[in-house]
Parts: sequence; structure tokens; C-alpha cells
Amino acid sequence: MKPDTVRPDALRLDAMGAVSSTPFTAEALTGTVVSIKANYYSVQLEGMAEEALPQISSGEKPVLLCIRRGLLKKLGQQIMVGDRVTVEEPDWQGGRGAIAAIHPRRTFLDRPPVANVDQVLLVFAIAEPDLDTHQLSRFLLKAESTGLSITLCLNKCDLVTEEIAHQWQDRLAGWGYTPLMVSIRDDFELPKRLLTALQGKITVLAGPSGVGKSSLTNRLIPAQNLRVSAVSGKLSRGRHTTRHVELYELPNGGFLADTPGFNQPDIVTTAEALGDLFPEIHQRLTDKSCQFSNCLHRDEPGCAVRGAWERYEHYLLLLEEVIKQQQALLHKGEAEATEKVKMLEDGKILHEPRLEAKKYRRTSRKTRNQAFQELCLDLSEVSDLEDLEDLEDLGR
Ligand code: GDP
Ligand code: ZN
Repeated sequence: MKPDTVRPDALRLDAMGAVSSTPFTAEALTGTVVSIKANYYSVQLEGMAEEALPQISSGEKPVLLCIRRGLLKKLGQQIMVGDRVTVEEPDWQGGRGAIAAIHPRRTFLDRPPVANVDQVLLVFAIAEPDLDTHQLSRFLLKAESTGLSITLCLNKCDLVTEEIAHQWQDRLAGWGYTPLMVSIRDDFELPKRLLTALQGKITVLAGPSGVGKSSLTNRLIPAQNLRVSAVSGKLSRGRHTTRHVELYELPNGGFLADTPGFNQPDIVTTAEALGDLFPEIHQRLTDKSCQFSNCLHRDEPGCAVRGAWERYEHYLLLLEEVIKQQQALLHKGEAEATEKVKMLEDGKILHEPRLEAKKYRRTSRKTRNQAFQELCLDLSEVSDLEDLEDLEDLGR
């Protein structure tokens, strides 16, 4: 389903710069992409009066369902959730618009794909489920690998004694963290405390299942805001995939990113960079340096990191894991570079040595023809609805 592209005449006049009775269409509109479904982008507009969209109820912010301008598509510019964008030609009645430009990104998270994220809010439970320190450590390392600031919340403190809560606090202080000890169930001041920390920022919510993330989201965000980005069923394709991301607006401003993809704490880094993800190692290296600049902190002489700190064993285990990953990648790369893999008619795989490196080979006539045909195919996409709209704009 493509959005209705017929715009009321009044809006067409606005787009041409005519004096308008509504103050909203005369200037460029800016907003944040809060969700993407198929080729439709829900953009929550900034600084807009509620009356801009007549069908929304009081307290809700205007969200326009937008397409991407053909020019952005031709330039290969992908729009991400979290992007600040310029919206053109709003159709207030239909709640539609078109994204004409993407503002420069402050930050960029690859997996899950979110732009302009400021911080990670990591939630773990102190009990039910039991706190698994290896799992917590992996989530922390993954969060550290984003380079964003991290707030760690230990939830369900109502289930343990104060003494146990303090023990955990001390233990995690040793890891370099100061967790917020909370009970989402019992602490009614919590939303106030947290909202201040989240105000005006895009925060990624992470943590394993069962720790209270949904409970927290429901407490922080009024139901109407949760509803805002829920676009109709037809557009909800891909909703449950791990790459699906949705932003929810917080009452004091700022957004919470609901990202199932972040909850698979795979550590993708190099052996040399692994140490940077441990605050304990950081601390040790600010006080003292290792004798060798490329020290991996195993059994090298003059290492300032090796020692009896809690997560050192964990560091060594992860180091092995990362080295294995790197070796597997290297092996794969070498195999691809020196071998050609052929599937024979009987289904057997044949490995043949590559005769020459790809870059030195002259492209054959067949390859050139194929490339030409692909180009023609690309050009034929101009008949696409979005591009037609651009042509329409030019004709006006
Ligand atoms: P999610 O999977 O991380 O989204 O976790 P949920 O929000 O669904 O919560 C999992 C369970 O923990 C639910 O039964 C909640 O009622 C419960 N829960 C959430 N917060 C608290 C808390 O502070 N204390 C206790 N005792 N239970 C909680
Ligand atoms: Zn070292």
C-alpha cells in the first residue's frame, strides 16, 4: 500500500510559498524518525502545536507517516530510526509527508540500527531470575563497545535484604560501575528519578528477558505515547525481527529505544581492543603502563593489568573467544582469496586455486553487458511512485 499522494490545493499553495492560514507549513519541518515499517517512516515532529494534526488527541505529538524522497533513494541515503529529518509537504488531514533530508548523525549504532543514541540503560534483576554475573558482564561489554554512556539498573531489590543489595553494589563498584538499586514494582518515585537522567536524550533499553524492562517502559511512558508509533497492521511487517527498532517518546522529552536486537550480547571486537571494554583495565592502565604497548595482559612480562581482580578470569576467557573469532575470519578471508569454490553437477564441492587476483582481470563483454542491464533496471525504477512525486515537484 502506498500513501495517498493527492494533496489538498491549500497545501500545494503552501509548498509554493504562498501566504498560508496555517503557520506550520510555511517553514521547514523537523522531526525524529521513531519507526520504520517497509518503506514508510513515522516521523515525530518537533515544536509543533497539537492542533497541527486535527485527529490526534490532546497531549500527543504529531506523527506523520512519511515516504523517502526519490533523491535520497538515488543518493543511496538510508534513513535510520533516530535520524533527525526534514519533512516536506505535510498532508495534515491524511497525516502524511515526505522526508527530504537527513540531518548529520551524532552517533550511529549498527546492531540494532539506531542513529543519535546518547546512552544505554541496562536493566538486570537482582533476583528472579538470579543475577548471572557472566551474562551481566557480557551485556556490559556489549554496551561498552558502543562507546556510549551506560546506566546500570539492578531491579527487584524488593526481593532481597538490604544487606544483599549492598553486597552487589560493592561487588559491581569493583567492576567500575555504580548501579541504581531499584524496585520498579514498589518504588513510585523511580519514574521521576529516571526521567531526569533520560530527558532530551535517546536511550537504548537493554537487558535479558524477565528483568522488568516492559514494566519499566510502562511506568515511564504514558499509554498514549506507546500507542503513537503503533502504525496500522498492514505496515507492521518485520515487527518481530531483531532488527526492528522503535522509539517511544518520554513525557519530559527524549526517547526510549525498544530494541530486541541489543539483547544478544555477542562481543565483536579485536584482541587488542577487548581490554578497552573493561573499566578495571582502563583504571589500571591510567595508573601504570604495561611494558609492551601491544600487551594482551596474559603472561607478558611487566604487565600492569594481570592480577587478582574479579573479572580478570573472565577477560582471559573472552580474549580466547575473540582470538578464535579473528582466526576464523582470517582463515575464511584467505580461503576466499586463494580458492574458487565450484559446485559440480553431482552436488560435490570442488575447491580450485584462483589463477589471478580479481582486480587485475579485464571485465568480459558479458560482465559489461550485465552491468549495463542492471543500470537500465535501476533507471526504470524512476517510474516508482516516490520518484514520480519528485518529477511532479519539478513540474510545478
Ligand atoms: P522484561 O521481560 O524484561 O520486559 O520483564 P517484565 O517487565 O515483563 O517483568 C518480568 C516479571 O518481573 C513480571 O512478572 C513483573 O511483574 C516482574 N517485576 C518487574 N519489576 C519487578 C520488581 O521491581 N519487583 C518484583 N518483585 N517483580 C518485578
Ligand atoms: Zn598488560
